[in-house]
Formats: sequence, C-alpha cells, structure tokens
Amino acid sequence: MSTISLVLPVYNEEENLPKLFAELQKLIAKLPNEEVELIFVDDGSHDRSYEILTGFAQQYPFVKTVSFSRNFGHQIAFTAGIDHATGDAVIVLDSDLQDPPEVALQMIEQWRGGAAVIYAKRRKRPEDESWLKKTTAHWYYRILNRLSDIPIPTDTGDFRLMDRKVVEELKRCREHSRYMRGLTSFVGFPQTAIFYDRHERFAGKPKYKLFKQSLKLALDGLTGFSAKPLRLISYIGFVTALLSFLGIIYAIFMKIFFPEITVSGFTLTIIAIFFIGGMQMLILGIIGEYIGRIYIEAQNRPLYIVKHKMNLD
Ligand code: UDP
Ligand code: MG
Repeated sequence: MSTISLVLPVYNEEENLPKLFAELQKLIAKLPNEEVELIFVDDGSHDRSYEILTGFAQQYPFVKTVSFSRNFGHQIAFTAGIDHATGDAVIVLDSDLQDPPEVALQMIEQWRGGAAVIYAKRRKRPEDESWLKKTTAHWYYRILNRLSDIPIPTDTGDFRLMDRKVVEELKRCREHSRYMRGLTSFVGFPQTAIFYDRHERFAGKPKYKLFKQSLKLALDGLTGFSAKPLRLISYIGFVTALLSFLGIIYAIFMKIFFPEITVSGFTLTIIAIFFIGGMQMLILGIIGEYIGRIYIEAQNRPLYIVKHKMNLD
C-alpha cells in the first residue's frame, strides 16, 4: 500500500470547493488500495474558502490544510503543497475542476509502470479561453523551448504526478521566481505525458489576470531557464553597429564621388536616434529583468508564510 498526496492550491474557490471535494471523494473510493491525503493550500483567499476547508479538515483526518498569511501566488501555493505532502506519489491539480480528478487514475497506473513524472497534456484548450490567450500560449511555449536549455513540455499546465524522488529534488529548488513546469523538467527522471480534455472552470473567474500574473509567470519561465535573451543583446548590438558602419561608408562614398546628391540628413538622423533609443530601452529592460530576479533572490526571504495548518504536525 502506498500513499498518494493530492495537492490543491486554492484561491477564492468557495463555489468550487464542495463539488471538488465530492469529486475527490469519488476518486478516493476508486483507490481502495492506496492511502490518500488531500493537501489544500489556501493562498490567502478572502472569500469563505478557508472556513470551508477547515470544515473538511475537522471532519476528515485525511484532509490537511496549509493556510497562507496572504496571497503568495499559485506557484508558491503549489510549492507549499509539495513541501507538506508525505505521499510516495504527489499529484498537483487545480481546485476549479479544470483538471478532472479521475485523470489521476491513469497517472497512478503509469506511475506503477515506472514513470517518475506523468504530466497531463491538454488535447485542446477549453472553449471559454479567449483567442488571445490561446495564441499567446501557443507561441510562448514554442519560444520558451527554443530558448531554454532543457526541453519543457508544450501545452501542459501544472497538473501532474510526481514520484517522491522527484518531489525531494524539487524541494531543493528554492528560487522565488519559480516556474514549476520548468523545474520538473530540470529535475529529470523518466517523464511521460498523458492526454486529457481540460474542462472549463466549474464556477468563479480565473485568478490569473492575463496581463499581470500570466506575464509574470511567462517571464519567470523564460528568465529562469534561459540566459539567451542576454546573449541576444550582444547580437542586436553587433547588427546595429554593423548597419551604422555600412551607413558611414555609404555617406563617405557619396560625399567623395557624388557630392551633388546629399544623403538626406534630418529624417535619417531622427529615425536613427529613435531606433537606437528604442533598442537601448529594450536591452535595458531585458537586463533589468535578470537583475530584478537576482535582487529578489538576494533578499532571501521565506517563500511563503503560514497562518494556520490543520492535520499536519
Ligand atoms: N490559485 C492560487 N493562487 C493564486 C491564483 C490561483 O492558489 O494567486 C489557484 C486557483 O485557485 C486554482 C489554480 O491556482 O486552483 C489555477 O488558477 P486559475 O484557475 O485562475 O488559472 P487558469 O486555470 O486560468 O490557468
Ligand atoms: Mg483554472
């Protein structure tokens, strides 16, 4: 008999929790030979999620809760969940029922077959997602893989099963700007995919605000797994230097051999200034992203602060 931990980050999911819990109980009933623990991480919800989770934990000892002192974000909640999980296999899934719990059965089967990580790959993205989100996500994964030194699976979220040995290694990665999908790839071990249909959110609104949290996560992924954007800066610098050098040769050549045709001065100068100015801003921005991350890591603050735990020592 082995222990399976299910880790569920929760942020303002009061409408989803009762249905989610019912689904999880159905799942547990289908796993009579395993010991299952549920680890709910309340990421500073300000609706009734905390009360609901406390209620579950009071009633059932296999329900364990970690409540944060404030909202720390999904990736950190995920981390706290695996920090507290004791299972031989740990499954992370969303609490809005977008990740159907029954897929866990297939994951466990593959795990028994020897895979250390089984990540769930979306067959299609849910209907309610905007065209913008689908397209940006599609391209993001492709660019990320181009730049990253380790392959990071495309079209996967955080829904995955991880073997204890993977969890132990993940726990050693304590960076603040974390991208768990990338870290799981970084850890290595045999990894396999299973396909599933990602559902629409059962109730409530997505908590990732497209241009804030998603962008942060996207940048954490890129900067966390690739230093190539920094190298790109040298290329840009090289190409612009080369172009301006050609321009100088051209101007001198015209001056000597065709002095009657003047190289049109004003417009060209303005364009060149804007171009170089824009490039420099962009380049400073890229460098700034990396420096910002160094700064955050140098502060070395705790990843999260726990307000309350239940059924955990
Ligand atoms: N979540 C969290 N902290 C946050 C934002 C989200 O713990 O700051 C949880 C949320 O409750 C859900 C999961 O992370 O269980 C995924 O969030 P969401 O559904 O908003 O993301 P999406 O499915 O749109 O990627
Ligand atoms: Mg969701």
